[in-house]
Amino acid sequence: MAGIVVIFDFDKTIIDCDSDNFVVDELGATDLFNQLLPTMPWNSLMDRMMKELHSQGKTVEDIKEVLKRIPIHPRIIPAIKSAHALGCELRILSDANLFFIETILEHLDIKNYFSEINTNPGYVDEQEGRVRIFPYHDFTNCSHGCNLCPPNMCKGLIIERIQASLAKEGDKTIIYLGDGSGDYCPSLKLEEGDYVMPRKNFPLWDLISRNPMLIKAEIHEWCDGEELEKVLLHLINKISMEESHNNPSQLISADCKLQTISVAAHEALPQALSVPQ
Ligand SMILES: [Mg+2]
Ligand SMILES: [Zn+2]
Repeated sequence: MAGIVVIFDFDKTIIDCDSDNFVVDELGATDLFNQLLPTMPWNSLMDRMMKELHSQGKTVEDIKEVLKRIPIHPRIIPAIKSAHALGCELRILSDANLFFIETILEHLDIKNYFSEINTNPGYVDEQEGRVRIFPYHDFTNCSHGCNLCPPNMCKGLIIERIQASLAKEGDKTIIYLGDGSGDYCPSLKLEEGDYVMPRKNFPLWDLISRNPMLIKAEIHEWCDGEELEKVLLHLINKISMEESHNNPSQLISADCKLQTISVAAHEALPQALSVPQ
């Protein structure tokens, strides 16, 4: 099989908070952040905040230490590992930045499960000794032209690029997971046969709920890491069965994998194992 590509948003999807806000809050710069937010785009403000924190004596190591404390639901890493073990290709599509994401993924020891990370450039400028954050799309030169998305990144354009490259590899099914309003544009680009997993009661879910008919992909909501794991593995299971039905030569390998899925799904439901007193 290996016909499934799972694309994860990062903030409030893989991790359980917004990494930008977490770093700013933990390093005591919330007031300045809120003061400057009305004056510049979010992504530009994050680079400015890195500069401010540096001038206050906060080091790159201080930022890394904060990122290592980032909250994540205990079922997220098992969900990522199970999806990978079942042959899915995993990618990240995030409006955070590469420095924050890589620091967190390396700390959690899950970076190698992802084949691609699409996000804003972020790195340590050794000369300045501070973190620099740049827009994915250089909007000072020209606009990406999408009015649903922030100036620095249109996730819909990136999804279209992913779709075009996947089309060359044959029949692929996309499962897209996200929570924010920036995940709406890519959700609109998903095709029939794809799946979108919006986090319940978050902006993406609200936007989809207003008019679900605009979404061609099948919609499956989730509320926390436990439910994310259950729904995601269920969908992978379902798609694998449909694939093996359409292509019986793949049946044997799919069967093996389905056994793995049922074990993983069982682990995800501890209440099913508890014995009533
Ligand atoms: Mg998010
Ligand atoms: Zn867009």
